[in-house]
Amino acid sequence: MDIIPSKIQTIEEYKPNKTDYRIRLDANESPFVADGILEEHMRQAVKTSLNRYPDPLAEELCEAFKKAYGIESASVAVGNGSDELISIICSSFVSKGDKVLVVTPDFSMYEFYLSLAEAQVVRYEKNGDYEIDFEALAELAKSEEVAFCIFSNPCNPTGRTYSREQILSFVESVPMPVIVDEAYMDFAGGDFSVLGDAPFHENLIVLKTLSKIGFAALRIGFAVGDEPLIGAIRRVKSPYNVNSLSQWTATALLSDFDIVKQRIEYIKENVKALSSSLEALTAGKGIKIMPTEANFVTLRFDDGEQASALFEALKEKDISVRYTLGRCLRITCGLKEENEEFLKVFASLL
Ligand code: PMP
Repeated sequence: MDIIPSKIQTIEEYKPNKTDYRIRLDANESPFVADGILEEHMRQAVKTSLNRYPDPLAEELCEAFKKAYGIESASVAVGNGSDELISIICSSFVSKGDKVLVVTPDFSMYEFYLSLAEAQVVRYEKNGDYEIDFEALAELAKSEEVAFCIFSNPCNPTGRTYSREQILSFVESVPMPVIVDEAYMDFAGGDFSVLGDAPFHENLIVLKTLSKIGFAALRIGFAVGDEPLIGAIRRVKSPYNVNSLSQWTATALLSDFDIVKQRIEYIKENVKALSSSLEALTAGKGIKIMPTEANFVTLRFDDGEQASALFEALKEKDISVRYTLGRCLRITCGLKEENEEFLKVFASLL
């Protein structure tokens, strides 16, 4: 008897990278540990005993988040990482067989959850430089009558970032929900983000996460928008999806956001330095450094085998980066010293 449903028979278990590399630039995390006052916030955050269930709506956390990002009028739903919110949207906003528009390449989990929901994925292929023609995208969304569209901005894994005007005119020209995953937007800033616009567009949801700015271990993500759509997410999520320890800690951290902002600035400066050093190192070698507004730099190789060989050689040197799209290496920005060590080893391997 076949007791495993056929649609999940061939799915492989998620096997994360081993974590004991000397330098880890593979998962787009922050290199900063939560020490000093941030650690103190974490300790102070524990407010009550552990016998009660968490606040299902995470109201205090939502208030702290809205204040930190200046979006007081927004509706917010909190997830166990933005990954959980993606999973909720991809399973609840479609029925079996419904079409959903994704762009490729993009964050792989969208298609993963859509396949579990037995949705039909409509793919828009980006051009060779990973750009999107948003008018063509809107035409596709309308002609295919998709249930919703989802994409990341800045894009993981390419780093390519689309402007606020491009995103808003797309959102305004389609009749279905548009999910803009701004997991990396803290590193890009005002010209690109539609976070502040989300409460004023009935078909826009913006996803955010604390994972890239220093708190991946907490598993906290946010869906932001107008009440009807966000209310729908709150209604279908499991009641106690975000544990109290994470809620309390995140509330405390967001209430004292300046240190986090300083660390974001550090990453922004160092990602620029990493990018320009890589430009200089790879000039004329068949490697394109993709423009980035995120906390990582993506290198696209003319020769995919060279990318894969360098990935393995870096691992041999105890440095972990991400090999992706068959011909790219994605390097997360680490501490200045980590980036410099990476560049030294990379230069010696090239
Ligand atoms: N969206 C994008 C684009 C990501 O790259 C990631 C993490 N790799 C996520 C969402 C998930 O983040 P979280 O840790 O909040 O689940």
